[in-house]
Amino acid sequence: MNRSAQIQRLIGLGPGWEGRPGWFEQHPAALQRSLCQAESAETTNAEPAPAVIAPIQAAPAPASTPPQPAPSPAEAATPAPTPVAAPAAVPAMVADTAAPLLEWDALERAVRDCRDCRLCQTRTQTVFGRGNKQARWLLIGEAPGEQEDKQGLPFVGRAGQLLDNMLSATGLDRDQDVYIANVLKCRPPGNRNPSGDEIASCQNYLIQQIRHIQPTLILALGRFAAQTLLQTEKSIGQLRGKLHSYQDIPLIVSYHPAYLLRNQPDKHKAWQDLVFARNTFARLQDRS
Ligand code: SF4
Repeated sequence: MNRSAQIQRLIGLGPGWEGRPGWFEQHPAALQRSLCQAESAETTNAEPAPAVIAPIQAAPAPASTPPQPAPSPAEAATPAPTPVAAPAAVPAMVADTAAPLLEWDALERAVRDCRDCRLCQTRTQTVFGRGNKQARWLLIGEAPGEQEDKQGLPFVGRAGQLLDNMLSATGLDRDQDVYIANVLKCRPPGNRNPSGDEIASCQNYLIQQIRHIQPTLILALGRFAAQTLLQTEKSIGQLRGKLHSYQDIPLIVSYHPAYLLRNQPDKHKAWQDLVFARNTFARLQDRS
């Protein structure tokens, strides 16, 4: 098995196969995406421009476009999250650099004891983050899910396993090379979408984490993380493949692993994003 096939197998793309004609077009995920895109086109208002730096390069395509496996019965049975309307406006994550920076331990305690929004009433525990706080990569997701709420750690369960496999395929160790956090530190009930006031209440914790870590590169995983950090309502499809910045820190957007579990055909795009991120990180390292 060559290296490309090994990487594809490692991140769950599985052995190569030829898709049946029309399979992708009729796949439920593709049909759902079409619906979403149509709705988005109808409802999109004038959007604020994100802080976009001219792209270093388009996301490179893999040597050969990996074929997509059919979803396993277990993954096909994965229930979609309860659909909840997105907040009308995603609050901007505006870092107040004049605000006092809490020590890391004090910040952890502040999150653990926080009761600043309604989510404190339904959480099992807060989820602060995991990984190396001296890491050069910072991965930011949306909010804890059911397993994260139970275990007190971000990105556990099947989505976390997929992320770990993808990081490993990129040559990154989840404990040493990255720090992983969420925009929200408490689980929204039923995995509903975070509301704007919850994001606003919680954002200072993430801002303080970013100020501590001072990463070389931020990878925003999923729509909410990307829209919150970039102060935009653009879709993942519009934001990925470009180099953005948050508070002068380079930022790349990709899909949330939980989304990829439900949308297998987009796994190869997430792999492209990681390759883009890895190449961008290498360039940033060379410049420093
Ligand atoms: S989500 Fe954030 S602001 Fe809300 S209670 Fe949890 S830690 Fe506090």
